[in-house]
Amino acid sequence: MFRLESDFNPALFRQAFPYLQSSATSVYLDSAATALKPQVLIDSTLDFYQSAGSVHRSQYDAEQTALYEQARNLVAELINAPSPAAVIWTSGATQAINSVAHGLAHWLEPGDEIVISEADHHANFVTWSMLAQQCAARLIILPINDQWQIESAVLRQALSPRSKIVAFNMVSNVTGTEQPIAELINTVRQNAPQALILLDCAQAVAHLKLDIQALDADFYVFSAHKLYGPNGLGVLSGKPESLEKLTPLLYGGKMVDRVSKQQISFNPLPYRLEAGTPNIAAVIGFGTVLNWLGQYDLQQAEAYAVALAEQTKVRLQRYDHVRLFNSPQPSSIVCFVFDDIAVSDLSTLLSEQGIALRAGEHCAQPYLARLGQKSTLRLSFAPYNTSADVEAFFAALDRTLTLLR
Ligand code: PLP
Repeated sequence: MFRLESDFNPALFRQAFPYLQSSATSVYLDSAATALKPQVLIDSTLDFYQSAGSVHRSQYDAEQTALYEQARNLVAELINAPSPAAVIWTSGATQAINSVAHGLAHWLEPGDEIVISEADHHANFVTWSMLAQQCAARLIILPINDQWQIESAVLRQALSPRSKIVAFNMVSNVTGTEQPIAELINTVRQNAPQALILLDCAQAVAHLKLDIQALDADFYVFSAHKLYGPNGLGVLSGKPESLEKLTPLLYGGKMVDRVSKQQISFNPLPYRLEAGTPNIAAVIGFGTVLNWLGQYDLQQAEAYAVALAEQTKVRLQRYDHVRLFNSPQPSSIVCFVFDDIAVSDLSTLLSEQGIALRAGEHCAQPYLARLGQKSTLRLSFAPYNTSADVEAFFAALDRTLTLLR
């Protein structure tokens, strides 16, 4: 059913990641937390810090500025943003969601409604909960069904003329479940045309071809580090007219046009939302990563990683006392528990055997409550993983179970 054969060359892809060369015995199955970094990113970062200057400041920094803006263009291409001006650099998905929440606070009145879901990461869940408190808005938390999805009918019921913001993830970091996003957006547009929609694409960006002009949301956020990019960099994008509505979270240099004792005027997008000296090395490094990724067919690469994960699920299912929390679609995330063994015991012993996986609440306590679990184990696959990684995981699991049972 899930075939590994395609034109995608995993060995070539894998070679690009120095961690996998230097730690040959370690099995990295935590890419949903953060992806490994390719050599091109490391080289680019080193190059930047061996050079001088900033961006958009002086004549001599023209070359850095060109690379910096080229990275913005590459992100615009990656997600089909309406223009590079609609790509705003942030420090990550979390900061991007907070920027939108802060930026819309002026627009909320007591009694207005904010809709999120129990499948959200804390970055979305907590940010909107706090804004609701701050603005005396009503927070509506949509339940998910047994397939871990929001149902359109449930969303429709929750919407009202007071709905101002609808914000949820496209793909879950816990189960890998993809929400029926187009249908949900349509439901909002038909039943609450006044509402603004934010999509948390932190997981989606590494797994789906994002076309934000084809979708009809207002804001999209993601972090570079989930797509082989650097830490400390994220993107806020969306419809220019929606981005224009945001009050800047930060004020300072480069976001202003004219400043006098009497009056201050601001620069146009994207600079109005990018105060201060940016994380230039990260931006240029991410541009280098996106250029490098351009040589791969990302859909084939994704299909390869998903096939490894799906084979793992099939094999895991055969174990006694295992419980899997599968997404309805094939996905690169394997979320599971053993009913008779503590997650922490399993994860400790597996990591001692070189298996890097995630155990815990996955920054999504409401989701875990919905699953009826305090914590789960999560394996997350990327195209640099191999069948040998799957074998190593099962060998370590078998040894661990023998020890613990
Ligand atoms: N949303 C989802 C679905 C995530 O998986 C994550 C990170 O794991 C975030 C938001 C937050 O991303 P960051 O911590 O990079 O800001």
